[in-house]
Amino acid sequence: MHCSTTGAPRLFPGCQDGAVSSPTLDAPEAGLDDEQLAAVTAPRGPVCVLAGAGTGKTRTITRRIAHLVRTGHVAPGQVLAVTFTARAAGEMRTRLRTLGVAGVQARTFHAAALRQLRYFWPRVVGGDQWQLLDGKLRLVGQAAARAKAGTDAASLRDLAGEIEWAKASLVAPDGYAAAVAKLRRDTPGPAEQVAQVYAGYEALKNNAELLDFDDLLLHTAAALEEHAGVAEEFRDRYRCFVVDEYQDVTPLQQRVLDAWLGDRDDLTVVGDANQTIYTFAGASPRHLLEFPRRFPEAVVVRLQRDYRSTPQVVACANSLIGAARGRVAGTRLQLVGQLPPGPEPDFSEHDDEPAEAAAVAAQIKRLVADGTPASEIAVLFRINAQSEVYEQALTEIGVPYQVRGGERFFSRAEVRRAMTAIRTAAGRGETEGAPLVDAVRAVLVPVGLTPEPPGGAAQRAQWESLLGLVELAEELVAVEPEADLRRFSVELETRADAAHPPTVQGVTLASLHAAKGLEWDVVFLVGLVDGTLPIQHADGDDDAIEEERRLLYVGVTRARRRVLLSWALSRQPGGPRRRRRSRFLYGLIPDEHPASRIANGRGRGGAKPRCRVCGSPLLGTDALKLRRCGDCPSDVDVELLDRLRGWRSGEAKEQQVPAYVVFTDATLTAIAEQRPCDNAALVRIPGVGARKLDRYGPAVLALVAESDGGES
Ligand code: ATP
Ligand code: MG
Repeated sequence: MHCSTTGAPRLFPGCQDGAVSSPTLDAPEAGLDDEQLAAVTAPRGPVCVLAGAGTGKTRTITRRIAHLVRTGHVAPGQVLAVTFTARAAGEMRTRLRTLGVAGVQARTFHAAALRQLRYFWPRVVGGDQWQLLDGKLRLVGQAAARAKAGTDAASLRDLAGEIEWAKASLVAPDGYAAAVAKLRRDTPGPAEQVAQVYAGYEALKNNAELLDFDDLLLHTAAALEEHAGVAEEFRDRYRCFVVDEYQDVTPLQQRVLDAWLGDRDDLTVVGDANQTIYTFAGASPRHLLEFPRRFPEAVVVRLQRDYRSTPQVVACANSLIGAARGRVAGTRLQLVGQLPPGPEPDFSEHDDEPAEAAAVAAQIKRLVADGTPASEIAVLFRINAQSEVYEQALTEIGVPYQVRGGERFFSRAEVRRAMTAIRTAAGRGETEGAPLVDAVRAVLVPVGLTPEPPGGAAQRAQWESLLGLVELAEELVAVEPEADLRRFSVELETRADAAHPPTVQGVTLASLHAAKGLEWDVVFLVGLVDGTLPIQHADGDDDAIEEERRLLYVGVTRARRRVLLSWALSRQPGGPRRRRRSRFLYGLIPDEHPASRIANGRGRGGAKPRCRVCGSPLLGTDALKLRRCGDCPSDVDVELLDRLRGWRSGEAKEQQVPAYVVFTDATLTAIAEQRPCDNAALVRIPGVGARKLDRYGPAVLALVAESDGGES
């Protein structure tokens, strides 16, 4: 049933007439492989796509929606598509529009809930609508003071995060202590006290008639669960549900989804358990992995072909996730790259962070000069604080950038001014008859759109924003040739409402968390040191470490053609070079790569390596491997060395490669001298990377153990 044909008043904001089809537009079924096609054309009902990065999950669900609409199975206004970020939602709407489908609700869980709640509020609560709370720290602070908990900024942030986790996990204040005990969860203070802060915060917030983000979801679920009339009306309107990035759904979001669905099963979910990166916030891949059990009749599709990245990037991603451990890792599929080959991943070590940032900026400048658009380059990092040094480096070198994909584009002053100017000009009928793009340019000249970019960095950034608006107009005309200034003004308001910014022609600086689902030609993964990635507080918690590994996996798989990984040994210039490159890089860096030698040779602590016999600084690769000068006495186990050599020639013969390809003489001698007793000790020997460890570790360790056993 089409929502505009009922004759009923508009019951839901945004439930618009769906513009369906134009014969010249791409068919939703075109350009898909067999598995993708199976998911796209599956009949209405449960569908689950379990697949790795870049295999076309998002493309598949977008096409599925278009297919269902164009074949008349569902009206656009009856589809509710949930994505992880407002930006992803905006992209999905744009993609649907190019497929000839408009009017589908594509939103984040929160945005969808906010709209629904606004609509239902008078019926389920009555009175004035409660306002949204702008950041919870103030109220958490008051509650913490009453509960005599820490009230410094860091403690309050931790407490606020913990309250968010509890709410997302559907744990109420009075169940908090039991829940964390059961999960053996680290809490930011004694559990009873945290529960008290949580309860206090809820009371303060409710008394002030405020809602936090999680309340939007809680109240929406409750409205549907407890009010039969509301549920009936809702379910009559929305009939088909689609969820992207389903691996990161929280129990609270799942509850909302269940409330939306009722006893129906018209639900398509797609996700990759190996990209789960929000478990710290209560998310769990359980719902994705158990979907086929919950809906035994579901069409389940697995995709392995990676259409995004070169085989080199794919190999790097596969070996990174190949080393993952645990239940989630057991579900991974080996990605198979479909694109033509490209450059090998690049690794580089730097003395300090500013030097790393300067090197990255210089490389970006070269790439741009050689023709890579700046908007096709991203610098990704673990925490937002890492952004600043890159912002500085790029500003110094004159390369435009946007932080975090420009989520705040529509709140920038110059964009707001430009939108007002466009709205006013459209209202006055100025520029009537002129082509849209020319009209937009003309209106933006008084706001600051000069023909050439201005000099200073700040002015340049403003100019880029205005140009971004012109490009939006170009995009709109490509899809709707008849669009005029008035139509453009409405388009901007809609986008601003959904915070869907145009792509500014700049390098993207973003956290790994914010990069999820996106892609660029060239991706720099920076600051890869232990303590940052994995983040310090993950240490000692295997699950948390695995989540950090998945974050890096998300980062690597954002790159279409090139991925460049870098780290710095010290934070400040001249500071102590104490940092170690990220442990996740073992096995990614080829053994013969200079960065591998540098980092391995320097060893723990970054101090210059010294001979373990005479104590002099070590020079040369062989000395570094043996951890002694070439002419210092060797304590080699001669018998073990002989056995290792015998084993090596057997291996080399079998693989038909020269013996040194298996291990060089120096590496074999180092093994026979240092007699590693486990993988950790073996991988510390330069020349033994993770790939060799996997392949030869068991045989080598068995030989060492045998010789140890023989001695005792
Ligand atoms: P992620 O896990 O990172 O979210 P994804 O599985 O959602 O990735 P998409 O973003 O849908 O992957 O697709 C990755 C890229 O591959 C996109 O540029 C998309 O257009 C392209 N692509 C997907 N399927 C095909 C196909 N069958 N033929 C050609 N290109 C494709
Ligand atoms: Mg995707």
